[in-house]
Amino acid sequence: MDTFEQWLNMSWEKNAKERKLINHEKRQTCICPACPSFNRYAREHDELLYCIAGKSMLCISEDKGCTCRNCPVTQELGLLYHDFCLKGGEAAQRYEHEVH
Ligand code: SF4
Ligand code: SF4
Repeated sequence: MDTFEQWLNMSWEKNAKERKLINHEKRQTCICPACPSFNRYAREHDELLYCIAGKSMLCISEDKGCTCRNCPVTQELGLLYHDFCLKGGEAAQRYEHEVH
């Protein structure tokens, strides 16, 4: 089990309040707002943390580059993928790569 899988299991074991706190901390470190793909619609809808939350809900549709690799969350959680706003969260992308 790698770092992300451990984090995922740990976060499911915790109660909802603690999970919310963890996500709140990560929201503050998410650097999506500085990414060229992040647009004003995503800002207006307060979207962030696509690696955990999953795809952008109709806000981001154009890939102008991804800065996830420079984000502290990538290193902290051992994320393998990127472009989460367009391709889905880490868990979804891992699953897709496993089944294909
Ligand atoms: S890895 Fe990407 S989506 Fe996840 S917190 Fe960092 S910048 Fe945001
Ligand atoms: S997930 Fe990647 S491409 Fe999407 S806004 Fe965040 S840094 Fe940019």
